[in-house]
Amino acid sequence: MTFNSIQIFLERIAPLAGITPQELLELQTPARELTAQLHVHGKTYPAYRVQFSNARGPFKGGIRFHPEVELDEVKSLAFWMGIKTAVADVPFGGGKGGVTVDPKILSREELQELSRAYVKAFYQHLGPTKDIPAPDVYTTPQIMAWMLDEYETLMHQSTPGFITGKPLELGGSKIRDIATALGGVYVLEEAMKKLNLREKTAVVQGFGNAGMNAAKLLAEHGFKVIAVCDSKGAIYNKEGLDISELINVKEKTDMVTSYKNAQQITSAELLALPCTVLVPAALSGAITKDNADVVNAKIVLELANGPTTPQADELLHGRTILVLPDILANSGGVTVSYFEWVQNNMGYYWTDAEVREKLKDKMVTAFGNLWPEYEKGPHDFRTVAYVHAIKKIVGAQRLRSG
Ligand code: GLU
Repeated sequence: MTFNSIQIFLERIAPLAGITPQELLELQTPARELTAQLHVHGKTYPAYRVQFSNARGPFKGGIRFHPEVELDEVKSLAFWMGIKTAVADVPFGGGKGGVTVDPKILSREELQELSRAYVKAFYQHLGPTKDIPAPDVYTTPQIMAWMLDEYETLMHQSTPGFITGKPLELGGSKIRDIATALGGVYVLEEAMKKLNLREKTAVVQGFGNAGMNAAKLLAEHGFKVIAVCDSKGAIYNKEGLDISELINVKEKTDMVTSYKNAQQITSAELLALPCTVLVPAALSGAITKDNADVVNAKIVLELANGPTTPQADELLHGRTILVLPDILANSGGVTVSYFEWVQNNMGYYWTDAEVREKLKDKMVTAFGNLWPEYEKGPHDFRTVAYVHAIKKIVGAQRLRSG
């Protein structure tokens, strides 16, 4: 989503948060917009890091490697991180990074060099008390490991809290790999209780880290996952897909459409399937004004960042489809990143069960903080979440400068 459309949305809802025009302007203005050109094996890749408001704590957010990365989008994503950390109630500001590259065509050596070059370009502005990166689209625990190693080499010290989403052996947290999807499932279960929904069918759009784990966890939590898609195609079986088999197939062939026991459908047909929950878990802009009318779910659980455009949001709200917005629904990722950073800072590590319990507690609390306001009406859930977050960010800033 363009940064400009976020500004328009913010201007519309700012009065609900009771902030002054000057405070709105500060909220909309990044603290830093860093750009660099990374040179790897004779090629040049544009790279970015954007930071928004550290009033509540150091900047925090992932780094994506994707051919469509551009500064304006990184700005939007960094801004959302600031809102998301406030909604999730973890003590961070907003940050996001990106490199314009197709990592799928790089060799392992090139990928490692690119990851190290990113840290060399920005390390002075990064660190456990400044700005803490993490994985995002197409970046992995291995990439976090190379970045950590580069940072520690440059700084001449052990600093595991520099980055989150690391492999467990280097100070990663239990369940960080599934945290985005698991946090989403916890929020979804709360919403279903409130709406009294008993039928459990799911459609998952996207089959990367968030989408694949969502399909797996939804199946484990008693959902029938009837359709999924990846960038190469979509599959559907109204009796439900066998998710472990599907994951095997995806890992072997890199295409969900290689799964046999289902019919191939188009991605437009996938969005229109009747279901309890539709889970957009790919890139932004999946649900737009042109296809929002066909959505036939009771709930949209946004595991991707920005999958629903503002106009689509209005259309869905008008049809009483509950959109659980990205800034809440996918905040399990940054929440367990927070737990990882805490564990790194204290040098003591929690068990799988402890992290799960803490994540559930955070997600249920975050949902519970917003639901009563949403229930009162007339605003959609995203607006309610934004207003809650903006009050917290501006409130923290007022304590510093007011
Ligand atoms: N990239 C993830 C997000 O968009 C996680 C960020 C983090 O863990 O810092 O929320």
